[in-house]
Amino acid sequence: MQVPFVDLKQQYQSLKNEMDSAISEFIATGWFVGGPAIAGFESDFADSHNAKYCVGVNSGTSALHASLWGLGVGIGDEVLVPVNTFIATAEAVSLTGAKPIFVDHDDSYNLDIDELKQTLEGKGRLGLPADNIKAIIPVHLYGLPCRVDKVLEIAQRYGLSMVEDCCQAHSAYSIDSLSGEESRKNYVGTTGSTGAFSFYPSKNLGAFGDAGAIITNDEKLAQRMRKFVDHGSTTKYQHEFPGHNYRISGIQATVLRVKLKYLQKCTDGRRENARLYNEALIDIAEVEVPPETQNDYHVYHLYVIRAKERDRLQEFLKNRGVSTGLHYPKPLHLQDAYSNLGYKEGDFPRAEKYCGEILSLPMFPELQRKQIEYVVDSIKAFYSKEN
Ligand SMILES: *Cc1c(COP(=O)(O)O)cnc(C)c1O
Repeated sequence: MQVPFVDLKQQYQSLKNEMDSAISEFIATGWFVGGPAIAGFESDFADSHNAKYCVGVNSGTSALHASLWGLGVGIGDEVLVPVNTFIATAEAVSLTGAKPIFVDHDDSYNLDIDELKQTLEGKGRLGLPADNIKAIIPVHLYGLPCRVDKVLEIAQRYGLSMVEDCCQAHSAYSIDSLSGEESRKNYVGTTGSTGAFSFYPSKNLGAFGDAGAIITNDEKLAQRMRKFVDHGSTTKYQHEFPGHNYRISGIQATVLRVKLKYLQKCTDGRRENARLYNEALIDIAEVEVPPETQNDYHVYHLYVIRAKERDRLQEFLKNRGVSTGLHYPKPLHLQDAYSNLGYKEGDFPRAEKYCGEILSLPMFPELQRKQIEYVVDSIKAFYSKEN
């Protein structure tokens, strides 16, 4: 049996008629940049996360860059970033002229809150002075909401801005308990000043190419970012400052607006698949399943286990037709791109240990029960051969 890591063709097939007619209608308008397709998607996407404003952009990286710029982060500043994330989180910091300061993660793969505090107090393992730190980017890695309430508390104590990297966590939320019995869904991207999303094709909400968006409840910030992503302008040929061309394309907004209607259904599919994996893998001593607490609604962009003999298991699965991935094989402080920052091996023990153990199993909404069973049986076969 072949089990692909993701399958974007199936999703298109299931929406083909609706998608094709939305795209044809869009093309017939002749309005390819800007226009109603974009405004419509922005409004729907803001609503889907209980946010007031949404600015569509051309990638998640642009969404992060525009957010940091909008909050005034620039040359000479420093920004706290998890050391285990896709490099774009740190690149966005570099794009502003600021410097990323890395922080290790905890067992949830998200920012280690204690280490975050220690870094800010200058008492971290690395003993860095924290004078120039202006912002912090919690990442909701793999689709699991990071403890943004805790991060916000720390950010406020130190007067830092907070940008949430939601590129893997569309529609994930935590349950906040209010007074008495009441509770509230706190969507990712709405606790910090902004939430940055990617619609790279394989993300939980994926375009037919690159795209992204920023959500915020701050009207002034939304306006500033909107100008930044469109040449410093809202009125044609009136430019307040040199900006970028980070606009979202109309055709991607059209595609995303159709797909957004099915996001909940897709998330349900991912969560059900994760449940099936969890149930079947929990008994395998050599495997650690992903953490999920009761109050966090994990949207399983990735289903990441930790496994003994990871490399050999990955090879074994590959030979049985099961595609897997590593997210991520090398923490950011050890990447050539950031060798100038002066970090060294041993600086982030958890990230360095886990990157040799993590394995991302096939995960997409349309994954079938029998495929999951095959993956699990293959993992069992691997370990029983070991013994
Ligand atoms: C995908 C991703 C990004 C970047 O998004 P692009 O649309 O590819 O620019 C940033 N951060 C994280 C955590 C991501 O997974």
